[in-house]
Amino acid sequence: MPDRIKRGAFQRAIRLMTFVDLPIRRKFVFFAIGVLFWFVVLASVSFYVLLDVNIKTSQVVNSLLPDERFAQDTLRKANEIDRLVDDLLQAGTEQMVSLKLELLKTSLVSIRQAIEQLDTPEVQSPIRMLWDRLAENSWLDKQGNKTYLQLVKKSTAAQLQLLNEISYLKVDQIKNGQDNRSELEGQSGRFGALKEELVSASVGFLESISHQTKRYSASIGTMTSYSFWIMLTVLLLACGLLAVFTFWISDSIVLPVSSMIVKIHTLATGHVDLTDKIEIRSNDEIGEMSREFNDLMDTVHGMTVFKNVIEEDATLEDVYSRLGEAFCVNVGIDNYRIYEVSSDGIGLKAVFPFALSDKELSCHPDILASCELCRAVKTGHTISSLAYDRVCKQFLFDQNQVHICIPMIVGGHAGGVVQFVFDKEGEYALSRPEIEQRVAKAEAYIKQSLSVIEAKRLMNTLRESSLRDPMTGLFNRRFLQDQSSHLIAGSLRRKKNIGLLMCDLDFFKQVNDKYGHDVGDIVLKESAAIIAKSVRESDVVIRFGGEEFLVILTDVEAGDALAVAEKIRAKIEEKTFVIGTEKFSKTISIGISEFPQDSDGFWQAIKFADVALYQAKEMGRNKSLRFEESMWTAEDF
Ligand code: GH3
Ligand code: MG
Ligand code: MG
Repeated sequence: MPDRIKRGAFQRAIRLMTFVDLPIRRKFVFFAIGVLFWFVVLASVSFYVLLDVNIKTSQVVNSLLPDERFAQDTLRKANEIDRLVDDLLQAGTEQMVSLKLELLKTSLVSIRQAIEQLDTPEVQSPIRMLWDRLAENSWLDKQGNKTYLQLVKKSTAAQLQLLNEISYLKVDQIKNGQDNRSELEGQSGRFGALKEELVSASVGFLESISHQTKRYSASIGTMTSYSFWIMLTVLLLACGLLAVFTFWISDSIVLPVSSMIVKIHTLATGHVDLTDKIEIRSNDEIGEMSREFNDLMDTVHGMTVFKNVIEEDATLEDVYSRLGEAFCVNVGIDNYRIYEVSSDGIGLKAVFPFALSDKELSCHPDILASCELCRAVKTGHTISSLAYDRVCKQFLFDQNQVHICIPMIVGGHAGGVVQFVFDKEGEYALSRPEIEQRVAKAEAYIKQSLSVIEAKRLMNTLRESSLRDPMTGLFNRRFLQDQSSHLIAGSLRRKKNIGLLMCDLDFFKQVNDKYGHDVGDIVLKESAAIIAKSVRESDVVIRFGGEEFLVILTDVEAGDALAVAEKIRAKIEEKTFVIGTEKFSKTISIGISEFPQDSDGFWQAIKFADVALYQAKEMGRNKSLRFEESMWTAEDF
């Protein structure tokens, strides 16, 4: 395609990324996918942040807070136990000892029970478990937690054991009066050490929890700030990309469309440079539309130029040949024929290509004699064998070819017909839409030329009428004056003679006198028709005077002219004119000369024919006489 420009790899990549060459629907689908992608990215970031915050918070609630409560409880109980141990050591009765011992045991057991509860693993959701596995919760010191609980467990177990021993010693002291004070002090000293260890471990653990809480807040803070920046970046990036793509896509649609609107507007006002094309930016529907629009402009431009040119063409033949050239070059149809209905409305003439023989016609040659046989001329509308096979019986090649015949409607009726012929099969066979497209274009050229053809035909008719004698339909003397130079030039070029027959009806005056002028006119017309029929199509018959006819025989050999003259003379003689009940016949005298054989001057040769006619009359009329030099005496004329 000529409009498709070769592009570099970078440009191609940019075009690929900006969807320039994609169809509009796909462009929007990709655009929507792009928007969706950025939505998904934003949603994912938000989801991640929310999930992370949620899980960390639930860890704080489920893990850190109970641990902290436990540690504080343990600390409180440790001090309480310390006080109770003092009470136990101060107890004076056995019951008092066992009471305090029970209280101490209850406290220690409650600590151990709390540890059991903490150790019970909580039921976790699959998402949470997955999250825990994926995310490293570095802020949560699980190991420290375990160590502390183990320490509490060990310490309380040791404390329980020591308490039992202390209570034995105390009971022994009360019951048996044993002086085991130093032993008691030793044991209570050990108990105190255990308690101190528990207190300091609990304090340390509480500090670690406060540290972890701080780290948790820091982690949430970092997460929130990261997510804020990520979301902001994603949002800005998405907005930027969306803006760019919106601009690109709308640009690729809006610019060509508005440029087309401007063109159409200027076209409507008539001020437009048809050679100034719309730039094709993409290969989508818009590009296609621009291309079609440019083609349309081309066609309009071509048509306008075509019409201007044919308007200035001198002859109708020039117009037909120009039309044929347009079919060939601009439309791409080379098998066509242009026919013209003859001025009498009876026959059909192949006017382009010129001088077609019957064999070169695609139709039966009968159509040339009777234009009514041509279906397109008869009906006045397009006849296409594409629409209906074997639609016209005059078309001879239905087997291998299709024909589309378009009538040229001039002055309300078919003044001619253009026939397009296409092969049905083979290397150059076209598809039906292609044929229809080309014919439509060709039809536009035909339409453009119709007014010009009509004007030229009218002018030709006017010219013809001024060159013809209205009564006999023969050419008049003015035609001879206009065309003699062409006739002479052609004959000299071909090195042939022109035979000149000057014919004059004998005693014609008598017809007028006897039957009246109207009968005289009829005799004149019939005689003219006899003369015209006696000569070839290429010969010219002129009404030279009232009842005088000049026959110009082109390309004759010596002696031919006399033979033709004799033929005319004999036919007139044979003719019987019937006027009512009256019948009569007439004769004709003919003087013959040849150009350039008898004279270098054409008009002089005519004069010589006239001289010979005079001689024929002198010699008794009803005679054909060849001019001889002896007939020419200056005194006589
Ligand atoms: P000839 O030529 O044999 O010497 O005799 P002629 O009677 O034909 O001679 P002439 O040339 O004197 O007469 C020609 C006559 O033709 C005179 C004229 O009235 C008549 N004529 C010329 N033009 C017309 C025409 O258009 N219609 C009719 N009806 N008669 C015409
Ligand atoms: Mg006469
Ligand atoms: Mg005469």
